[in-house]
Amino acid sequence: MTTVEEQQPEQHVFEADVSRLLHMMVHSVYSDKDVFLRELISNAADACEKLRYESISKPQLSSDGTQPEILVTLNEEAKTLVIEDTGIGMNRDEMIDALGTIARSGTKAFMERLEAAKAGEKAELIGQFGVGFYSSFMVADRVDVISRRAGDGEAWKWSSDGKGRYEVVAVDVGQAPARGTRVVLHLMDDAKKYTSKWAVEKIIRDQSGHVPVPIRLVDKDGAEPSQVSDGAALWIKQKSDISKHDYDDFYRSISGQYDEPLANVHFRAEGRHEYTTLAFIPGSQPFDLFDPDRQGRMKLYVKRVFITDEAELLPRYLRFVRGIVDTSDLPLNISREMIQESSVLAAIKKGVTSRILSALEKMAEGEAETFSKAWDLFGAILKEGIYDDFERRAQLLKLARFRTTVSGEATRSLADYLAGMKQGQSAIYYISGSSLDQLKSSPQLEGFRAKGIEVLLLTDGVDNFWPTNAADFEGKPFKSVTQGLADLNAVAGHGDTDEGGGQASPKLQRSSISREAHSVRRSLTCVFPTG
Ligand code: ADP
Repeated sequence: MTTVEEQQPEQHVFEADVSRLLHMMVHSVYSDKDVFLRELISNAADACEKLRYESISKPQLSSDGTQPEILVTLNEEAKTLVIEDTGIGMNRDEMIDALGTIARSGTKAFMERLEAAKAGEKAELIGQFGVGFYSSFMVADRVDVISRRAGDGEAWKWSSDGKGRYEVVAVDVGQAPARGTRVVLHLMDDAKKYTSKWAVEKIIRDQSGHVPVPIRLVDKDGAEPSQVSDGAALWIKQKSDISKHDYDDFYRSISGQYDEPLANVHFRAEGRHEYTTLAFIPGSQPFDLFDPDRQGRMKLYVKRVFITDEAELLPRYLRFVRGIVDTSDLPLNISREMIQESSVLAAIKKGVTSRILSALEKMAEGEAETFSKAWDLFGAILKEGIYDDFERRAQLLKLARFRTTVSGEATRSLADYLAGMKQGQSAIYYISGSSLDQLKSSPQLEGFRAKGIEVLLLTDGVDNFWPTNAADFEGKPFKSVTQGLADLNAVAGHGDTDEGGGQASPKLQRSSISREAHSVRRSLTCVFPTG
């Protein structure tokens, strides 16, 4: 029988997408290579959280008393940076699957955008996508991953120079962590700064200060590691003890995005259900926002143990919101089926949705500029709720902002629209198409312009659905300009005052009718693509 040390490594070729991604990583000039550390620490923290979760049903997995921890070791002489965790670990098949392929949906779209992006935008894109493990090849010319899955009697080593191939070999368990994964980066010459304790500590504090697992750092063999972060859950602290900086850092560590969130919603619900939410309205669009497969990204914790990020804790039209819900009202060993059917979670979903919409309302009232940014980023998604969520339709319509024939560069709310309605006007008019310019020059608007009637200019894909379904806003129905032509006679003409009794002069009526007839004829040949 051969001993483990004598085995020949198995040779593998990376999946084509991985090779393409790696090529881009190595050959593009990234303004910020530090992201690799955040990605590896985030993987290590995920592995610790997975173990915490699996240990609920299989306590023997972590019965050795080893605590969840991430240890970062620097060695200037050997030019290595090592990240070791005491998490779930990987067996051979998991390694090949996880570190040789890209399972995530949207990878192709991401790579196309990455290839087209300017140097400065690339790091941000990487952050949004969280290319994760492979980013280590931005700073290392060889990466070794030695791992032992919790509960397994064998350990495996994965190794690659990132140039198309990798190898996998069984190693003696004595060479591997007792449990978990050790990632060894053999740093390139120009990446030596990552052996400086000072520099690495700063990067960890800045990028990963809020991962829910303690992080320690050591720069000399045998020296006592120093604690960089205590892994305490931010959301259980009192709001008054949390600075904006803490919130922003936490957002970045859970979302993998670099931007500054526009707002956070942090509250503890007590009463029928007990839970804490810390949610964020991001400051930029995630790259896959419009991907139909994109799921919500709220993480579910039960008593501070991470359970899943697939619980769909918010309605789809809030899928851009990032954050966590932590509840003590569910059993730790909740199964996927139980999650789907849980009435507790349904109640939590309702509660969190309300709080997020109220936060947006408050923002719309008190911080118009921030709100308008939020609407620009996520309005097209929020509008899905207008036809999806009957209960909150009125609330969402109140939040909605529109470009209109009178708004110029700014946007207007439906309340603004109602305030500007002409006498005799009984509906809210809209026109939809793929571009503002196209819409503004549409002949279909002529009759409305002539009467000084404001028309909403709708250019989002979702605008093809909600106006027909959203019966009305404060009693006024939505009507497309084509449906609305017949109403025009009832509306006072441009410049007419209230004294006009809502009737345009006969002369004006005649001229606008002939104009309308003309524009209808023209519009019949004018088809607008819908976005
Ligand atoms: P992501 O973390 O977004 O899935 P990565 O490329 O960073 O993408 O990692 C791919 C997969 O490799 C992870 O999903 C996980 O299964 C596995 N993995 C990476 N690092 C570790 C680790 N430290 N411990 C256990 N599994 C890991």
